[in-house]
Amino acid sequence: MIKSSSSRPKRILAVGAHPDDIEILAAGTLARCRARGDEVVICVATNGNMGSMHTAPEELARIRESEARASAAIIGAELVWLGYPDEFLYHDHETRMRFIEMVRAARPDVILTHAPNDYHMDHRIVSELVFVSSFIGAVPNVKSPSPVHACIAPIYYLDTLAGVDFLPTEYVDITDTLDTKLEMLSCHKSQLEWLGDYNGIDIVEFTQTVARFRGLQSGVKYAEGFRKADAWPRNVTERLLP
Ligand SMILES: [Zn+2]
Repeated sequence: MIKSSSSRPKRILAVGAHPDDIEILAAGTLARCRARGDEVVICVATNGNMGSMHTAPEELARIRESEARASAAIIGAELVWLGYPDEFLYHDHETRMRFIEMVRAARPDVILTHAPNDYHMDHRIVSELVFVSSFIGAVPNVKSPSPVHACIAPIYYLDTLAGVDFLPTEYVDITDTLDTKLEMLSCHKSQLEWLGDYNGIDIVEFTQTVARFRGLQSGVKYAEGFRKADAWPRNVTERLLP
């Protein structure tokens, strides 16, 4: 088994259920990863095609992919778009194999993904798919187009929405990258509108408030919180997050 080494830049894989999740929960950290020389891959599982009061699903999926690509480009991250239908992601055989291939192609040293107890069923299913697929990605007898990825990467669970039932075990100071995080989030124009119309929230203010609260907990102005998935063989002695 290959362990990641602190002496070289990391490959970071961040997997979100919907096109704006990674921005809400981890973009400040990913901006810091890029600043220290890491390669960042952002994978979006669903196409977000249900997130509108007035745009039809097919058109919305196209809009959301272009928003996600614009956001990823801000930090020079690679975007992997899986395109599953919003609200209808399942952990079946085909989807598991697609996730195994996605992990192998990304070759991560570190993985960020949703917490198993987050609010949305797509988030919970992504969490499980990533945990399972990053383990099986190291199994040689399971074949997919990309080579086996021998590193069973440590997983850091993203904060839950609004931090409900989530106590971070690690914090990343994002005071210097908050503006970048909010700029990335603001690329998701369709969602600034949708979350206002449907949920009655200003998602930029919402996101900044959580970052401020996590900062309060950790003694900085703004922070993002994470929980390490405690499972063998994913435990390492070095700090992997910035
Ligand atoms: Zn989501």
